[in-house]
Formats: sequence, C-alpha cells, structure tokens
Amino acid sequence: MYPRTFTYGLFARENKQGYLKICVNIGGKTVLIVKKFGGSSLANKERVFNVANRILEDYIAGHEVIVVLSAQGDTTDELLDKAKEINPNPSRREMDMLLATGEQQSVSLMAMAIESLGYPAISLNAYQVPMVTTSTYGNARLKKIDSDRIRTELDRKNIVIVTGFQGINRYEDITTLGRGGSDTTAVALAAALDADKCEIFTDVNGVYTADPRVVKNARKLDEITYDEMLELASLGAKVLHNRSVELAKKYGVELVVRSSLTREEGTIVKEECRMEKMLVSGVASDKDVARIAVIGIKDEPGKAFMLFSLLAKKGINVDIILQSVGREGSKDISFTLPTSDLKEAVSIIEGNLDRISGSKVEVDEDVAKVSLVGAGMASNAGVASTMFEALYDADINIKMISTSEIKISVLVDEHDVEAAMNAIHEQFKLAASK
Ligand code: ASP
Ligand code: MG
Repeated sequence: MYPRTFTYGLFARENKQGYLKICVNIGGKTVLIVKKFGGSSLANKERVFNVANRILEDYIAGHEVIVVLSAQGDTTDELLDKAKEINPNPSRREMDMLLATGEQQSVSLMAMAIESLGYPAISLNAYQVPMVTTSTYGNARLKKIDSDRIRTELDRKNIVIVTGFQGINRYEDITTLGRGGSDTTAVALAAALDADKCEIFTDVNGVYTADPRVVKNARKLDEITYDEMLELASLGAKVLHNRSVELAKKYGVELVVRSSLTREEGTIVKEECRMEKMLVSGVASDKDVARIAVIGIKDEPGKAFMLFSLLAKKGINVDIILQSVGREGSKDISFTLPTSDLKEAVSIIEGNLDRISGSKVEVDEDVAKVSLVGAGMASNAGVASTMFEALYDADINIKMISTSEIKISVLVDEHDVEAAMNAIHEQFKLAASK
C-alpha cells in the first residue's frame, strides 16, 4: 500500500532512559501516518499498551507517526456528569475547559506508555500545536493548524501525540469540536501535514452495510465514497464524526476505518470506489426523529416561509418536509426534526399559530427514519420501487418519503425499524454470503 522505492533509511535517537534505539527502514519509503484512536480503544491499561504497540509498529518500520487520541473510555460522559453535579447549567466556556482535560489525560498517558517501551514520544494539546478554531464553545470548527511544532517534533524523531476534539479560539480559550470530534482533528491534521495515510481506529472492524446489532448478516464494506459515508454518518451510523468526512472530502484525505483490537483490513473512505459504483452500499436508521404536522394552513403564499423561518431562527433543523395538496383553501404541512427539538418547536408553532394560519398541531414521537444509501442509485432506475416492495412484503407502512441523488429515506413507526432494515437489506442482497 505504501509507495515502494528502494531507499534505506537509518536513524537513531537516544530516548529518555538513555537507550539508543535504531530504526531501520529497508526497502520502503518513509511515509507520514496519522492514526486516531477512540475512547474504547484506550479504556484501560492493557488497551493503552495495545495501542502503543500498534503505533510502534509503524514507527519501527521507519515511518513518521502522528497520533490523535480521544478521552479514555467514558471519561467525557463522566466529566459531563461531574459538571452537572456542581452546576446544572454550566457556561459553555467552562464546560470546554473541563471536557478538554479528558483528551489531555490520554495523550500524556500514551506518551508515558511509549516511553516506558523505550521509544521517544511527545504529547501536545491544542494550545501547544496550536490548532485554532472558531469561537463557538462546544461546537467549534477548526480553522487553522500550525504545522511547525509538529514538524519539528517529527524531525526530532518523536512520535507526536495530539489531543483530539479540542482547539483554541481567538481569545486563547479552549474550545471543543462537538461529541465525537477527535475524528475531525485527525483528518484536519492529515490535511495540514499532507499525510500519506489517515487511519481511524475504533471498536468495530469498519463500515458495515447496516448496524450489525440490528441486521445479523450485515457485511463489512471494503470501500465507500465520501458522499455515501456522509449520508450514513448523518443517518445515525455513528462510526465517524460527520465533519471529519466533510473535511476528508474537501482535502482529498483518504481514510481507513478499522479496529484497534483486530488485524482486519477495515473500510477505505474515498472519492471514487475502485469498482463500478455500488448500487446500494448500506441501510441506516435514526430513531431520534419526531414528526410534527401543522393542520389547516391557509393555501396561500408565504405560509411555509413563516413556519420554517420561525424554527430556523431558533436553530431548529428540519429534515423531511411534506405539504399536502391544497383543498378548499387549506393545506397541511408536516415535517420531521430531532426529538430533542420537538418541545421547543411545538411551543414556537403553537405560540404563532395565528401568523402561520394553522388550525392545530399534531405530534408523532414514535417514528424513525430508515434510509438506503448508494452512489450508484443516481444512474439506476427502480431502486425506490425495490425498497418499497421490501417494506410492503414486510407489511410496514410508510409515513413519509424523501429522496436525494444517493439516498432514499422513509419514515416508519419506531417499532418497525428493525424489521424494515432487515427487509431492505435482504431485498438488495447486501448480506454476507455464508
Ligand atoms: N471525547 C470526545 C467525546 O467523547 C471526543 C471524541 O471521542 O472524539 O465525544
Ligand atoms: Mg467516535
């Protein structure tokens, strides 16, 4: 997989214990590798050393290694709980200050683990890199990464271990990138340092055609396109942080998603897949969905605008929107949104029912979205009908439908989700052959 040229690399460095480690790189070109490990891969001492050894494999082979780490195990959740005990409504700034400590623990412990094995490592937090973000605490976006310090440390033959998930903003405050954000840190570093490889290690073997806990013979994909991955990520297949995939696409960083606990190959996420575009690559579901229907809206211009601008002003994102045909001067508009926004949305709409000109609001919380994703869909007729046939055969009612170039989503009753996923998965023969 690495570019092969017959060069010899030889370097030596005295580590902190005074041993001289000589690393030889025979027959392979030195490449720069970014390796990111998630919390479960670091949950205890054994796992920390397991990761340390995987990092060392590349280092000993003569490669340059940048490591990005999440907080160990459930540390971030525990920190959140701790904060809530002290103050149920902590400021976002202080929250970020606290949450960022989880990653700082991981990187220092990993550097210690590697040093204890006799190799040189240095940990860096966002301030030390520095990695600059927008100022929004809790959901900051990386803007600029200064590569000088990391480059210097690599030149000194250090394994560089960087905190995931955090940055600093223009006030020199610590920010965080949102839950799961370490993936994004890894991709951003890979882009900034022009890495040859970016590996995201997690506790699953790669990206699957469906959640293996729901669909028994879901199959691991060898490859998937950025666009498909983006759809799957946003549909609740929580393998990768959404923004990491956006960033990877933007900068053309090829990702490998693989397990830290096995040697399996994993899934490559890239622009175009080797083979003919897969017709369908996966089925995903999202139970965190609710539906609101606003009934009896006047059938005249501006009403949809009024309704959705009120929601947008409060930062509420809606997803599938359906408007009924106007009859006798009135129409209904229904839409889906994340369950967590339901209460607020209903109160906004009820408080403005006159302006929207609706007569009442109906709510359905027990719904879920099931989606089929595939880059080949755009150029193939009949995918939708095959999907609907599968649902019909399984006697599952479709409440709403939406489509895009590479995705078809349906809204179904929440208790139908597992049956729907299995039926669709089976219909498209996505299953592993046994
Ligand atoms: N530790 C953070 C979280 O739990 C970031 C990450 O794991 O990527 O969300
Ligand atoms: Mg994650």
